Amino acid sequence: MSIISRFAPSPTGFLHLGHAFSAWTAWSRADRFWLRLEDIDTTRCRGEFSAAILEDLAWLGLDWEPEVRVQSEHFAAYDAALRRLAQRGLLYPCFCSRAEILRAQAAPHGADAVYPGTCRHLGDAERAAKIAAGAPYALRLDMAAALRQAGPARQFFDETHGWTIAAPEPFGDVILARRDVPTSYHLCVVHDDALQGVTHVIRGEDLRAATHVHVLLQALLDLPTPVYAHHRLLTDAAGRRLAKRDQAATLRALREEGADPQDIRRQFEEGRIA
Ligand code: GLU
Repeated sequence: MSIISRFAPSPTGFLHLGHAFSAWTAWSRADRFWLRLEDIDTTRCRGEFSAAILEDLAWLGLDWEPEVRVQSEHFAAYDAALRRLAQRGLLYPCFCSRAEILRAQAAPHGADAVYPGTCRHLGDAERAAKIAAGAPYALRLDMAAALRQAGPARQFFDETHGWTIAAPEPFGDVILARRDVPTSYHLCVVHDDALQGVTHVIRGEDLRAATHVHVLLQALLDLPTPVYAHHRLLTDAAGRRLAKRDQAATLRALREEGADPQDIRRQFEEGRIA
């Protein structure tokens, strides 16, 4: 079976060694490899970081299919997917502010795991009135209804754990379109993996939990479910996961210091990088 995979960074900063390891892990297994820029949050993403991502990955010696998908150019496609879920009666507008959600969670009886479901219970008239009055809102997935509709058809193959039933309940009524961004990471990633024919999603362990949401969305949107592999995360000398704050580990900084990209790839291959 030929393997189609991808690397899908958000251009909110320069790539560090952890990203490089993720990109390399997917690239080294793929017969076809896509690069996708997940830049829907146009307030945090910057063109200069997008350009740097391409440059840094090329420096590392990776190559990819000529068409780089830039998510911010495809809001209409994500909106169509959102509408399909709305037609199934699975979305509701949530008018809560972040502060309201925190307050409700702290209340003695309202403590749900994630979102307490405040706006799930609003009546149609109340919703319509708020929208007509211009109140900003997000769109949430009614998780219980979504699970009922998807039924048992939400299995996926995880290369570490084998066949697994998606259990996204801990996410609660996850947001699928934000007040300020008309879509969400979960929706776009599922849409694009299917569009690009991705057979293997190979990404960091930090996204293992999100996979459960993605598999549920695939079931609801009639999209194929790829195989999932979640690789270990690189850490710094103190054992902390590498993050964008670790300027020293950016590919940029390494390049400026005269690091040899071939040597970095060899270290990945031999498991010599922590
Ligand atoms: N865009 C996501 C990130 O930057 C990764 C998406 C994915 O690999 O599924 O963390």
